[in-house]
Amino acid sequence: MTFDDPTPLIGLEIHVALATDSKMFCPCETEFVREPNTQVCPVCLGLPGALPVLNRRAVELGVLCALALDAEVYPEMQFERKNYHYPDLPKGYQISQLAAPMAENGIMSFTDDDGGEKEARIRRVHLEEDAGKSIHLPGEGTLLDFNRCGVALAEVVTEPDLHSPADVRCFLEQLRELLRHTGASEVRMEEGELRCDVNVNLVHNGEGTPGRTEISEVKNLSSFRGVERALQYEVERHRQALRRGDPLTHETRHWDEEREVTFSARSKEESHDYRYFPDPDLHPVRIPRAMIDDLQERMGELPRARRRRLSREYDLSSYDADVLVGGGLADFFEEVVAEGSNAKAAANWVMGELSAHLNAEDIGIDELPVQPGQLAQLLDMVDSGEISGKIAKEVWGAVVQQGCDPRAIVEERGLSQISDDAQLESLAREVVEEHEDVVRDYRSGKEKALGFLVGQIMQKTQGKANPQMANEKLREIISREGCE
Ligand SMILES: [Zn+2]
Repeated sequence: MTFDDPTPLIGLEIHVALATDSKMFCPCETEFVREPNTQVCPVCLGLPGALPVLNRRAVELGVLCALALDAEVYPEMQFERKNYHYPDLPKGYQISQLAAPMAENGIMSFTDDDGGEKEARIRRVHLEEDAGKSIHLPGEGTLLDFNRCGVALAEVVTEPDLHSPADVRCFLEQLRELLRHTGASEVRMEEGELRCDVNVNLVHNGEGTPGRTEISEVKNLSSFRGVERALQYEVERHRQALRRGDPLTHETRHWDEEREVTFSARSKEESHDYRYFPDPDLHPVRIPRAMIDDLQERMGELPRARRRRLSREYDLSSYDADVLVGGGLADFFEEVVAEGSNAKAAANWVMGELSAHLNAEDIGIDELPVQPGQLAQLLDMVDSGEISGKIAKEVWGAVVQQGCDPRAIVEERGLSQISDDAQLESLAREVVEEHEDVVRDYRSGKEKALGFLVGQIMQKTQGKANPQMANEKLREIISREGCE
């Protein structure tokens, strides 16, 4: 019997806070504040007689989220009441969707840690409202904060298509990027804007005795590291159970961040019967085709598609395309290329000098006082041999400080490359006379000696000599004199 290669089957239920200004069914603000219970009203507190009014923006952002996941958005959806009692849910039910969700049958592709392309099917994307927050103080009881109660969420449910804790982390990181890109959510992890329930079991179909474990679900993980560590723990727990021949029981578990273990939830928490039924206060919601088309159009090119296009269109490595898109530098890069620069040179400069400057100054690309056209001008001067790569870095330093045109700086400081034949000839002759011993070394076959002589010319001209021409000039003089 071998249990070496059982496959983990991992599915996710991800709750994402949509980037609305107000809550899902009332005008209360959603901006994160520390002061508890300051953003509440009769609707989100569930007071008798208060009626919900659907936030149109929540629907639009939910649709964006579904479209980003390539899911089918239905023309009509229905809100239902999910009934359960918990102190942070004052109405005694949560408004959610079950039988008629907003969207189903999506797919998300992602890149794993080894650069492999993978995908996970998206079972459904539905809208629901968030609950409040219970704060348990040891010895002092439980405090309740309803600021979060009623905040618009999209719940994304995947099929169990993920097969390792690391893949789940990659999936979530790239989901976050996607949601930020579309503007559906800002996904501020520290404010709990992405929370995840994971379900996992192990299936062994290989040699020996086939077997599987029952699904366990770990609830309410709010960091990528927490998700990955909890899953590592669970996969190992299932692996050992399978080895023992113990199928485990279907259960809900919690993650203890401190001790890095999962533990079983009390069984009464599991025996939920939510008694869903259509919310009589909310009509079925029609989502017009025109709205879906409009959102699709405004969403533009998604990050993964853009990576693929950049590497295809500009012949960049997938690493370079990743850095440009992931670092938010792709727009600037494409504008530089549109100004006529060589794509590879533009990519190198944007990922190198430009990116280093942003890091050093701790600023975003939109705060950079340089226009794409100015960088294009600089690269053009390097390309045409007007200035050397070394001088270009000096000019760039001035451009980012002063925001003026590179050409103006080159002229003002007299940095143009020396490509004048007669001038280089006399410089080369000077250097050859001054370093007879090195010239001798070169003649005796030490190719490196020439580099030293070129360096001398560069020194005499403060780096302005055209190194290629200086090189040729030196060879010419040395071989000519050798024949005399
Ligand atoms: Zn409210």
